[in-house]
Amino acid sequence: MLFSRSVGGCVLLSFLLLAFIYGVMSDSSLRNRALELMKKYPLIDGHNDLALRLRILHNNQLSKVNLHTIKDVATDINRLIAGHVGGEMFAAYVMCTAQGKDAVRLTLEQIDLLRRMCTESPEMELITTAEGLNNTKRIGCLLSVEGGHSIDSSLPTLRMLYQLGVRSMALTHSCNTPWAESSSKYYLDYRRENNSLTEFGKAVVSEMNRLGMIIDLSHSSWATAKATMDHSRAPVIFSHSSAYKICNHTRNVPDDLLLQLKKNKGLIMVNFHDKFIVCHGQASVSTVADHFDHFRHVVGAEMIGIGGDFDGAVGFPQGLEDVSHYPALIQELLRRGWTEEELAAVLRLNFIRVFKEVEKVRDSLRDTPPSEVEIPFAEANNSCRLILRPPGIATVGGVHARNCQRGLVTVNALIWTILLVCGSLS
Ligand SMILES: [Zn+2]
Repeated sequence: MLFSRSVGGCVLLSFLLLAFIYGVMSDSSLRNRALELMKKYPLIDGHNDLALRLRILHNNQLSKVNLHTIKDVATDINRLIAGHVGGEMFAAYVMCTAQGKDAVRLTLEQIDLLRRMCTESPEMELITTAEGLNNTKRIGCLLSVEGGHSIDSSLPTLRMLYQLGVRSMALTHSCNTPWAESSSKYYLDYRRENNSLTEFGKAVVSEMNRLGMIIDLSHSSWATAKATMDHSRAPVIFSHSSAYKICNHTRNVPDDLLLQLKKNKGLIMVNFHDKFIVCHGQASVSTVADHFDHFRHVVGAEMIGIGGDFDGAVGFPQGLEDVSHYPALIQELLRRGWTEEELAAVLRLNFIRVFKEVEKVRDSLRDTPPSEVEIPFAEANNSCRLILRPPGIATVGGVHARNCQRGLVTVNALIWTILLVCGSLS
């Protein structure tokens, strides 16, 4: 009896040991497959806010920062290389409280920072074309602007951002602009009913099509997203948004919009921020993978990308804490049966397809002149906007000078800081 009990115990122990060894071996073989795949198809990541952190932590003084190892952030060159990132869409983001004030200056400063970072680092390359992105052997830097408030309702400003290398713009951040609506209700400015994308908003979309700038609908309200897809001639992206069906946060994308995105041939790039991944409980690599499974089920792998949102949000899943961890996600998707072909598309080929298509639309519009549409003053009305008029019409020296209200800046800055700390701005 004693003998048979100990034999039974031995068999069970051996079985558990074998299962453990098999599990470790299969994990390590999946890990190797993920790394091999990412070597061949380096990730093009849709959204990163390192520039914001460099402003907050280092006042944009690049000379004092070692870009290979930056403390208190989730992104630096060493970790981008470890994460097999071959393209990164760096955001020039300025806070909504700058809207109607110095948003354009602040945006230019962020673009200057990114251009310096991307041109002075031998491991990086500033990218402005799909072909350049496809061919680079370095970390390809794409410049994006996160929020239409950065153009101050001005198409000439939009065109100048393009000239500086910006190839994507989100129509809104957490604030409405005078011409497009945000998914967030934190800010009270420019609220309106049933007019989520105004006539001027449509002119912005058309001008972005003409220029060859990728329209980004992350942060836009669903109504604005829908109206934009109705109007745009080119595919659009959600550069960092996840699945509403899994976590019902308004920053995420519902299934009906996904189906419209499929018709638009655009891209949904999954955001890893834990608040968008799980509305309750603890986020993990597995709960992030659930969003990928859902998107694949609804629209197919050819519509999916990755937009980690590192350094924009506070709070990331266990196992995906910084940009060096992307292979862990690919390993998990391989374990769930995703094919290497599907993952190559998710990692980079889908984004390159969309970028090329946006350029094709630009080329088809080469005979269309730059738009001279202006926003009606009543729509962009704010006290800091000067009105230039010919002599005789103007009140003071050709300029309608008004008092630029600054009283709310401190309160707004406080709100912004709280939102940033809580991770709600991502
Ligand atoms: Zn964001």
